[in-house]
Amino acid sequence: MRTFEYQAKEILARYEIPTPRGIVCETAEDAVAAFDALGSAVVVKAQVLAGGRGKAGGIKFAVSKEEARAAAQQLLGTAIAGLPVARVLVEERLQIAAEFYLGVITDTDGYHGCPLLMIGSRGGMEIEDIAREDANAIRRAHIDPRYGIFPHHILSNLAEMSIPRKYHSQIEKVARQLYQAYWDMDGELAEINPLVVTAEDKVVAADARLYVDSNALFRHPELKPNFTNPFEERAAAARLAYVHLDGNIGIIANGAGLAMGTMDMVRLAGGRPANFLDPGERIMHPGGLEAAFGIILDNPNVEVVLFNIFGGGVRCDRIATRLVEVLSGIPDFHLPLVLCLRGRNEEEGQRIIAAFDCKSIKTTSSMEEAVEIAVKLGGE
Ligand code: GDP
Ligand code: MN
Repeated sequence: MRTFEYQAKEILARYEIPTPRGIVCETAEDAVAAFDALGSAVVVKAQVLAGGRGKAGGIKFAVSKEEARAAAQQLLGTAIAGLPVARVLVEERLQIAAEFYLGVITDTDGYHGCPLLMIGSRGGMEIEDIAREDANAIRRAHIDPRYGIFPHHILSNLAEMSIPRKYHSQIEKVARQLYQAYWDMDGELAEINPLVVTAEDKVVAADARLYVDSNALFRHPELKPNFTNPFEERAAAARLAYVHLDGNIGIIANGAGLAMGTMDMVRLAGGRPANFLDPGERIMHPGGLEAAFGIILDNPNVEVVLFNIFGGGVRCDRIATRLVEVLSGIPDFHLPLVLCLRGRNEEEGQRIIAAFDCKSIKTTSSMEEAVEIAVKLGGE
């Protein structure tokens, strides 16, 4: 899960990483009050769960109350990277002498998923370009999670970089604390970009990003789930396992393995899944399957629904009965529904669906056939 910049900075501040003084604001009036509290020059930063805000116009400078109000008004009324701005972070403006990069990421590509520390002698908005153009500008060190981070991981790299010596001890401390925050928070990514040196030679985290493993959120009750996608938010509220994708074949399958297998087969057949959805036990609970269909049918990209059931613990006839109840409650159900019903009491399930006599349902007991039909109906 991504956290907002202000959340990430609150956490880093607990680890004694210097951050600018700042106030989270939900209205333009709050931003004016924040300006008064912070001094004569501020930065107004859109709080959205996306990077690249600077380039997208999400970072504004203000040197008067009027400018602070205007900046907040403008940001709170728009979307940055397609995401509505509900809050801005108003911070004291830093006098930046130099910009560096610090990051800890779970390296899922290699090294058995070890944390990877990255230090950049150049940072800021062009970090991807810098990494591509100038291989020497970024140094990397894998950290063995059994032992954690040691000063040499940082200092030996700094010694070979073009970062002035007088900043090394401050950067070393920030990097160690960043690693500790990443570790304690069950992080997938903890990043400071830019890590700046101010005119007073102080090293400060001007921006911060923290991604927390969603499966570990129960260990951090102070963090409420943040969503970037309204469908995923609805699914979480209904306690359905759901991932939003950009295809046109809506998929419901009972069991995460079957749902992933269904998505793989759709892809192999040339189709594009609109989502992953495993209702789990909620399939038989009141409202569970209704919520699943509600989310899929409200997705404007969905052109066909593929409902793949293996009757194991829950018998096919019971699921078929549930499906008939749900569909009967959707008066304008118009999309083609491909139903694959296999497993315990399969024949009884098929009979229930046949008796329902709904023109838009195509039933089969072969997963291959169901996928083939769905992909054809999806038009690809
Ligand atoms: P991002 O584009 O979403 O990564 O947003 P950042 O918070 O990194 O801000 C983008 C850029 O704005 C930074 O790289 C800085 O160059 C600049 N910036 C951010 N805060 C300040 C500040 O307090 N003072 C100055 N001079 N520049 C800032
Ligand atoms: Mn940044």
